[in-house]
Amino acid sequence: MSRKPTIAVVGSLNYDLVTRVPRLPDLGETLTAKSFGTNCGGKGANQAVAAARLADRCEKVDVKMVGAVGGDGFGNEMKEQMRKHGVDVESVRVVDGMSSGVAVIVVDDATGDNRIMITPGANAAVTPSSLPPWLFNPSTAPDIIVLQLEIPPETVQYIINQSAQIQPRIPIILNPAPAVPLDESIYSKVEILILNETEAALLSGVSFAVREEGAERQDALKRKAKEAVDWFVKRGASDVVVTLGAYGAYYYDHQSGDQGWFNAHHVANVVDSTGAGDTFVGAIAMNYVQLKHAEREFCIEGGVSAATDAAAWSVQRSGT
Ligand code: ATP
Repeated sequence: MSRKPTIAVVGSLNYDLVTRVPRLPDLGETLTAKSFGTNCGGKGANQAVAAARLADRCEKVDVKMVGAVGGDGFGNEMKEQMRKHGVDVESVRVVDGMSSGVAVIVVDDATGDNRIMITPGANAAVTPSSLPPWLFNPSTAPDIIVLQLEIPPETVQYIINQSAQIQPRIPIILNPAPAVPLDESIYSKVEILILNETEAALLSGVSFAVREEGAERQDALKRKAKEAVDWFVKRGASDVVVTLGAYGAYYYDHQSGDQGWFNAHHVANVVDSTGAGDTFVGAIAMNYVQLKHAEREFCIEGGVSAATDAAAWSVQRSGT
């Protein structure tokens, strides 16, 4: 029997503590909040759940999460939630003596503005030596590895280098979020680079500040995205996608050399767009693996089309 197609997401799990306040408090001020809620998040966990939920809808694909939580109640709950969504969490280590990753989020109920404080906690313990052996064993290695930057950057660099050492080489999707300065040699070593405008601006130096409004604004943003994509391609990047929220996404296909644009779907009732980017990344990983197992060739244009559909669906639900 052939092995099930597998996506490995190596990344963060964060427990979100969300307090909604009538306005953001001043220094030293105590305010009575309007409500409090919790959410299981972290970019890695969100992307794994997105892929697993899509796997459930189409073809069965194994989605394995590699990461770490603290020996606290948050860690247990996050693992349990992910398991319920169909993610294999056997390789999520529990690190006693450390807290789980936590995001304390204060939201202004009137404007939606927020302040976010993230404690990495056990995410910082996802070191090269902690990675499970199956990840780089040719007989158990996944079909694709998905990475973000909420775990130590040296671990991300190590995985990218290791995946190139084994035969056949393991393809990598890198979502460099949150953006931190990266060694430029990294871009030629990943199959698919997916980033939003803030990350694209920080890493490439292309400013996305545009003055135009309406349809002209979209055209101006597309030009900026093209400039940023050209910057990454000059540094050896293969497929690149720059996402621009409710506008859509700009892509570069390294096989054909084509660049193109996908409008986001018009969603009349956007409930919560947080995590749309994570759904987008999870959906591209799913599309890649499904096509590979159907012995069909992946092309980034098709991946962006599938991801645009999935992300539009995600903004109609609250939470990540
Ligand atoms: P996050 O960090 O919240 O996960 P992001 O900034 O990484 O998000 P975005 O660029 O906001 O990612 O969104 C990714 C994709 O999701 C977009 O290219 C688009 O296809 C879709 N999307 C985002 N917001 C909307 C929206 N309001 N309506 C429809 N589609 C949306």
